[in-house]
Formats: sequence, C-alpha cells, structure tokens
Amino acid sequence: MKAIRVNEHGGPEVLSYEDVGLPEPGRGEARVRLAACGVNFIDVYMREGIYPGEPPFTLGLEGAGEVDAVGEGVEEFSVGDYVASASMPGAYAEYVVAPVERLVPFNVTLVEARVAAAVLLQGMTAHYLTHSTFPLEEGQTALVHAAAGGVGLLLCQMAKMRGATVIGTAGTEEKAALAREAGADEVILYTEQDFVEETRRITGGEGVDVVYDSVGKDTFDGSLDCLRRRGYMVLFGGSSGQVPPFDIQTLNRKGGLYLTRPALAHYTATREELRWRAESLFSWIGQNNLSVRIGGTYPLSDAGQAHRDLEGRKTTGKLLLVPEGSPEDA
Ligand code: NDP
Repeated sequence: MKAIRVNEHGGPEVLSYEDVGLPEPGRGEARVRLAACGVNFIDVYMREGIYPGEPPFTLGLEGAGEVDAVGEGVEEFSVGDYVASASMPGAYAEYVVAPVERLVPFNVTLVEARVAAAVLLQGMTAHYLTHSTFPLEEGQTALVHAAAGGVGLLLCQMAKMRGATVIGTAGTEEKAALAREAGADEVILYTEQDFVEETRRITGGEGVDVVYDSVGKDTFDGSLDCLRRRGYMVLFGGSSGQVPPFDIQTLNRKGGLYLTRPALAHYTATREELRWRAESLFSWIGQNNLSVRIGGTYPLSDAGQAHRDLEGRKTTGKLLLVPEGSPEDA
C-alpha cells in the first residue's frame, strides 16, 4: 500500500510517498481502509520534530473509512463498519491499524466518510474548548483567533450554540467573511488592525471572558490584554510558533487571570468522553446544525503541498488527503 513517510525531520519536502507493507491488526485492533485522511497542524509539528516521534514513521493521526479486518478479541466492530479516529498514528496511508478503543463509529448514510474525516479532530477540539475547558454560557464573550481556520470555524459555531458573543480574528477579508458566516458577531482583521484595541473597543473597555488562542507566539501577549479581570486564557496551539517561557506574575499584574494549555488527548482520555464528543458532532451534522467546511482536498501523494498551504496561511476550514482508489478519489 501507499503511505506518506517521514524519514528525517524537516520541511514539507521530507514527506515521501512510498510503498509499505499492508499492516495486520493484532489483538484488540482493527484495520481501516481510509476514505480520507485529515491534515492537522500537529502533523506539521511531528514532521518538524517539535513533537516527539523519531523517524522513520508514517505521518498522520486522523481519518475515516471502512473496517476491512479485525484482530483477535474485537467485538465492538466488524468488517464493513464505518469508523473514524483522531488518534491513529500512521493515518496518511491507504490503510491504518488502530486499537479499537480509539475508533468511533458513524452512520455513513447520515455523515459522509470525508466529512467524518474532516470533522473529528478539529470538531472534538472545538467541543472540549467550548464545553469543558471554558464552558461558555449565554451572555459571555469569547475571542477566537484564526476564526476561519479548521478549528476556528467550528469553534465559532459551537460558541454561538452556547449563546456566547463571538469576536473572531482573521488574516484576510475573505477569511473574515467565512468567520461571520460561521456565526462570529465581529471579526477583526488582525493583519491590519490592532486586535487588542479593537477587542477593548467592541467590549466597551471591559475585555472578553475567554480567549481561545491557537496562533501562539504572535498573539499570546496581546491576548492577555484582551481579557477581563479574572478572564481565561486558553492557549491551544502555536500556528505562528510556540510561546516562549512565561513569567507567571504576569497573570497577577493583568487582573488575576487563568491560563491553561490543553490538548485533545486530555479531553478524550476515556471511551465515554471520546464517544460523547464524537457523537455530539455526528448528530449535529446529521441534523444540519454544524457545517463542516472542507477547504481543500489533495491526493495522498500531494501531502507536501497540503502542508505548504496550511503553513502558508493559504487555507480555510479543513484539508483532506485522499488515497488513490478510495471511494472519495474523484
Ligand atoms: P488552521 O486552519 O487554523 O490554520 C492555521 C491558521 O492560523 C492560518 O490559516 C492563519 O489564519 C493562522 N495563522 C496566524 N499566524 C500564522 C502563521 N505565522 N503561520 C501559519 N498560520 C498562522 O489550522 P488548524 O485548525 O488545523 O489548527 C489550528 C491550531 O489549533 C493549530 O495551532 C493547532 O496546533 C491547534 N490545535 C490544537 C489542538 C489541541 O487540542 N491543543 C487540537 C487541534 C488543533 P489567518 O490567516 O486568518 O491568520
């Protein structure tokens, strides 16, 4: 089968489209024939070596497709079931083997496989941020950076579902329009406007209850200045680079702020929590209450281009890789 291998850390050019052996599922595992693989920023961090993982390895964590073989002791899934996962290492491939506790089922007549692949990782992230890390309530105000991104568009929609006012930031007018469509009440073009001043103006000087900041290095200090007294700073990514070491006294000086740096794994650690978040997404999609924007679809062999586009701020919504010969390969 074909897979995208990382033989050494580096830029998008290190992504190598290679023939590898078809993996066999062991005890408690299933093999999934992938209809589509999700591209995420974490794949960039793993390619670069910012996150742990020694080459050589097959990149990717997310995808959806049909179970085509199961290992011993697997009862929850059978061949032909449709499943998705946001934590199956080696997902930039035609087939992937994963422990069944990391798989979630979906009804392919209600949710297309490519949509399941597109929504799971970013959707569960938006879900835990808005429902668990800082459970938004009616009347509260959130600042969402990169609001037209994959996580951003879903975050805007979920924050609105919870009754919050949403201020988004975006790099271009086109992106700002998408963020508004996803429910953002106000959008700041942070490439042209000072987002701290604008946030203060929009909130009448008060500041927001929470900042969901995935941009990291370039926005972190400003984000702290957008918060109200005792506000919540949720740093959940570093699209512009990782935030350097931080003086904790700053939280005191800026009004008794809270700071957290969560990851999806902390919020999907139990099977129950994983299924709650995944099933919420699939049911909202089935009822047309959550819109998933697939901003780009690339052949699996073009993973490098997908990474260039993602890192180059050229994309909106979700990027997918489609293995050749998959039902999604048009
Ligand atoms: P996005 O679609 O949001 O793409 C990144 C966006 O960030 C860009 O489109 C761009 O939007 C903005 N951006 C601002 N500055 C830069 C820069 N210097 N370089 C690149 N992009 C920049 O990606 P994802 O939705 O996949 O992920 C968003 C973030 O969320 C990532 O940082 C990722 O690591 C994080 N994440 C964290 C998780 C967690 O559990 N902690 C889980 C999932 C994702 P614009 O042009 O509008 O500024």
